[in-house]
Amino acid sequence: MKLTYYGTGAGAGIPEIFCDCRVCRYAREKGGKEIRSRSQAVIDGVLSIDYPVDTFLHTAFYGLDMRKVKNVLITHGHHDHYLPADIFSRAVGMTEPVTFHLPVPTAAGLKKSAEAREESFRNGRTRTNEVLVAVKELEMFTPVDIDKYHVIPVKARHGAESLYAMNFIIQAEGKNIFWAHDAGLPRTVTKDYLKESGILFDFVSLDCTLKRGNPITGGHMDLDRCLETLRILRECGNVDDHTVVALSHIGHLVEQTHEELVAEAAEYGILVAYDGMTIEI
Ligand SMILES: [Zn+2]
Ligand SMILES: [Zn+2]
Ligand SMILES: [Zn+2]
Repeated sequence: MKLTYYGTGAGAGIPEIFCDCRVCRYAREKGGKEIRSRSQAVIDGVLSIDYPVDTFLHTAFYGLDMRKVKNVLITHGHHDHYLPADIFSRAVGMTEPVTFHLPVPTAAGLKKSAEAREESFRNGRTRTNEVLVAVKELEMFTPVDIDKYHVIPVKARHGAESLYAMNFIIQAEGKNIFWAHDAGLPRTVTKDYLKESGILFDFVSLDCTLKRGNPITGGHMDLDRCLETLRILRECGNVDDHTVVALSHIGHLVEQTHEELVAEAAEYGILVAYDGMTIEI
């Protein structure tokens, strides 16, 4: 599998719009890898993980071709991962729907909008070419097959129970990815599932939103929590020396520039994702 990170920032991205902190100031001056847009990655050019507020930016400036993306997995309904307002528009030449796979509570809203658009089209109230959308619900620990990808949603430690936030195990071509953001430390139910599954990950992408040693919320991680997550996964048999690990969903709260975080993570053999980074798995 080939995974491209289009957005590697936390909720507000880097630089934060009104922020004058050292990291945001440096990002404005330096640009390049110091700029982090909101969370999106695409596997093999066809399977998107999340559809954030910056999907337009990724399409306009980062070379993302959403016309080729037939399926979108949504981790949870926060705006830096899912912006339904940007789904429906007038699309010429779209003959097949793009299928959004969403956590149950998030799916309900999109389903309603899609049905309303279809009805309006059928009744002749809308006469333009429409974006075609199919909606599928994702349940925790219930695998789905999407083309050649076997996807298992697992419960993330993130937000309220009603948010139903998910992390994903994505399997194809004998390779295994663990996509764990947004997330705090693994929940017991997820840890037990992973241990039982016996899946050995080839690639793990971890949430690193917070400053090391100052994890101000349980629903995200700092570098120490990322290391603890890896220790747990190793103990459960899901990670070993061959596993490639990258940090993403990085905010200015980390209080490190990309270069600084790269240097610190390298001590543990961990990569730091940046917008535009592609990894072969
Ligand atoms: Zn987020
Ligand atoms: Zn800042
Ligand atoms: Zn979130």
